[in-house]
Amino acid sequence: MSNFEYKKINIDDDTSPKREDSMGSIKAYSGKVSELLEKVNTGNPLEWHNRSFEQASQCLLTQTVNRILTIRDSALIIHGPVGCAQGSYGYREIYRNVPIQLQRPNFQLNILSSNLTEQDIVFGGEKKLRQAIETSVQRYNPKSIIIATSCASGVMGDDIEGIVESMQPDIEARLIPIHCEGFRSQISQSAFDATAHAIVKYLVKAPEKKQKDLVNIIAPFSVTWADRVELTRLFTKIGLRPRFIPDFASTDELVEISEAAVTAPTCPSYGFYLQNALYEKFGVPFFREPAPLGIEYTEIWFRNIAKYTGKEKEVEELIKEEKAQVLPRLEEFKKTFKGKDSSIFVSAGQARAVFIPKFAAELGMNVAAVNTLELDPFIMEELQSVYEQIGDFEVHASDVQPFEQSHMLNRMKPDLYTGCPFMGLYKRDGSHVRNHSYRSDFSIQSNQFAFKGLLNYGFIIQRALNNPSLNKTLHEKRPTPYKDWWYEQDDILAYARQ
Ligand code: SF4
Repeated sequence: MSNFEYKKINIDDDTSPKREDSMGSIKAYSGKVSELLEKVNTGNPLEWHNRSFEQASQCLLTQTVNRILTIRDSALIIHGPVGCAQGSYGYREIYRNVPIQLQRPNFQLNILSSNLTEQDIVFGGEKKLRQAIETSVQRYNPKSIIIATSCASGVMGDDIEGIVESMQPDIEARLIPIHCEGFRSQISQSAFDATAHAIVKYLVKAPEKKQKDLVNIIAPFSVTWADRVELTRLFTKIGLRPRFIPDFASTDELVEISEAAVTAPTCPSYGFYLQNALYEKFGVPFFREPAPLGIEYTEIWFRNIAKYTGKEKEVEELIKEEKAQVLPRLEEFKKTFKGKDSSIFVSAGQARAVFIPKFAAELGMNVAAVNTLELDPFIMEELQSVYEQIGDFEVHASDVQPFEQSHMLNRMKPDLYTGCPFMGLYKRDGSHVRNHSYRSDFSIQSNQFAFKGLLNYGFIIQRALNNPSLNKTLHEKRPTPYKDWWYEQDDILAYARQ
């Protein structure tokens, strides 16, 4: 299988390495899954290609801020020009929409920009950062202050660690610097690694005791509020306490995640670094996959948790009870599913990229292609298992290049395109749906994890197949965004192979 060699984390470093360096993750691939697997199975590394033209790329700072701004009792300083912080201002209102009756803590989200100007870029931004730290203490009295770096502070080489070291003795709040300069890596998952590195290095304390009923669940923002409510219900039934990290965890809760019985994933790629760092520094055990998506994977997920919490009996009981409720409804659903023999194009993060094809095949759909933002070498084993179960399909890795996906959709003409909510709509004559919602969505159908989540996801697919009218109207009424020349190209990676 994959020749991925894991390198241990050095938590004393200022930050985590970039994924393209440490793991050999790639951001450009196109071909059959069988060809991809043959290459890695014969010892070849995933091949790196730069694109000579990119329609979009991802900023590490934005990726980081999206994940950490919900850490409670903290203040987040975006150390850069004010424009780098523009995407973060609406979140307080968005998240406070979640009803308090649905276990939402009563939180404030405190976000500041150090407001670097052209003059600061010439003379350095350290004074502004010190000011921002002092202001956040006076204004919010937080328990932690997270400093997210930007391209500007990175280019100037501001000594963030030096500032933290010199100010920390006089400040009660924990200072947590995250190196997420926008340009630092071309693999967006590097942002999660940098965040995990900083949390474990600067915030998490050595365990004073073990909390045998505490389970860390690493939750990116695709874990919705409805997912949290459902997973919490299941954990409560078996006498365990889930702690979703880092989203919406309080500073105090994060401090003690070293005491958890196990760290469980909801996405193997997102949680990779945090799980390893917690294990290597504090001995917290973990398992990397599967994510609890679908019946089979959810069973395995809970059984894995049982191994570390001694809840084997309770978990078996839980599985029996939940399946007794869900399976008859699933069978009914399958009978009414009208998408049989339809084809599906899946664009998703790596957890869903292996789950959705299996589920779609189970519903009788043909899997045309799977697109992910990037490919991590360790995902190959799961892709192999999907390939063995459902046969060949195309794989495309593109760090947000809609023109490449548009080319594939135009060529393959799948009946259903299911994509990340932030990837937008494609002009095509077929159904279109988002895979998942965001963390503040508390509507019941936005729960896709665990047993009942499978039904919700099935209904979403069915609804999309039954009603393609929005896409059809757009297809008829709107001009195509690309010239015919692009669709006539044989190779969607034309710009990556030059
Ligand atoms: S300047 Fe850099 S850090 Fe700021 S938003 Fe743009 S890419 Fe991100």
